[in-house]
Amino acid sequence: MSSGLAVAVRELRHLPAVWRADTVAPELVRQRALSAVNHMLAHCRARVPYYRNGDYPDEPLSSLTELAELPWLTKRAVLDAGVDRFRVPDLPANRYRRDVTSGSTGTRLEVWHDVDAYGYHGATVLRRFLRSGYRPWWRIAHIKPFPRPVRWFQRLGLFPRVVVHAGQPEAVIARQVLAIRPGLIMGYPVMLRGLLHTLSAAELARLRRTLRLVMTDSELLTDEVAAMLSDGFGVPVFDEYSAHEVLTVASHCRHGGMHVDEDRVWLEILGDDGRPVPPGVTGSAVVTHFRERAMPLVRYALGDRARLLSEGCPCGSGFRRMRLVDGRTNDYVTLPGGRRLYSAVFLDLAKHVPGLAECMVRQDAAGHITVHLLPDPRDRLGYDQVVEAFRRRFDAQVGVPVPLRFVRAERVALTAGGKGRFVESAYRPDTGQL
Ligand SMILES: [Zn+2]
Repeated sequence: MSSGLAVAVRELRHLPAVWRADTVAPELVRQRALSAVNHMLAHCRARVPYYRNGDYPDEPLSSLTELAELPWLTKRAVLDAGVDRFRVPDLPANRYRRDVTSGSTGTRLEVWHDVDAYGYHGATVLRRFLRSGYRPWWRIAHIKPFPRPVRWFQRLGLFPRVVVHAGQPEAVIARQVLAIRPGLIMGYPVMLRGLLHTLSAAELARLRRTLRLVMTDSELLTDEVAAMLSDGFGVPVFDEYSAHEVLTVASHCRHGGMHVDEDRVWLEILGDDGRPVPPGVTGSAVVTHFRERAMPLVRYALGDRARLLSEGCPCGSGFRRMRLVDGRTNDYVTLPGGRRLYSAVFLDLAKHVPGLAECMVRQDAAGHITVHLLPDPRDRLGYDQVVEAFRRRFDAQVGVPVPLRFVRAERVALTAGGKGRFVESAYRPDTGQL
């Protein structure tokens, strides 16, 4: 069997179960997740060296809340303990695939996903696309910082995708996207905002003739920015939350609910004390990908700020909903007095300040804050007026005087993985939190 056909079989055989998994009651979703978590823990104790350290009891958990009694892991902790100790020894190379984290926090981690867990994940991605209203023959313009492999279904002419390299000048990206006449544009929010700022009114009108959907991933998408993209492109915007270590965590339904993939992962939100917080309270996202066997990570802290929602969703899904908020746990500047401003604040400021396309914030080790302002090329406001408008809006929002230095930027700074580098701080008056 060719490898493409093997992957197709691995993904498609899960599709019927995947399609039904979120149509059952939340209690049944929890029961199934608990059973899957217990299978994973038994596998960890039997096969994975790290989990024989005495912290992981032999008895199965009787409820998912008992997960909170187990330690949580960070990327740093995994690297310090030795990545090999999290992997099943002597696993044949055809039983897993490697995925390297983007290193946006300065450290890279090579994660192994076993092929079965990956196949199931593939089926959930298909679920996400089909539930969004996407039709498999719509052309996709995918703005990406690196090339993507051609998938088995694309060889059959389905999900036709052209990758537009994200490292090119914005005018080139815009030209290439227009030439594709896409039904779907996928990309990081920073790239899609850049596209909106670059297209003329006539070009945007031309794009909107074929465009039906926009899908974003990998960066925090605030409600305000989502609304801006949806208004600008004139189509619904679907966001997704994923990480190399655990693959997809959650994705948008047609009603805008961000549902956790609870047939693959269990999400906990932990407060600063490391204990779970109730729905509605913001904390750190900690995820257990319970189908993983090659390199299982039990209670892995992803470094993102999020909260769970308690209400159901009009779509009827039995999977809980979550929201990403604030930004990554290390994406903030600290004001005098200790208050933190996360990247979400600056993303929304950029949207509301007239004449401003984007802003980036840097705080040095001494605490001094510099704001890099990227004026909107379509606007005729002078740079000084943009600075003044930013200052006014910032003061009104923050409410206390904060010394700021302003610098004019020519384009958005990106990480090695192509994400926007909006907030960076070398100032850490307090440490040791999640
Ligand atoms: Zn929903």
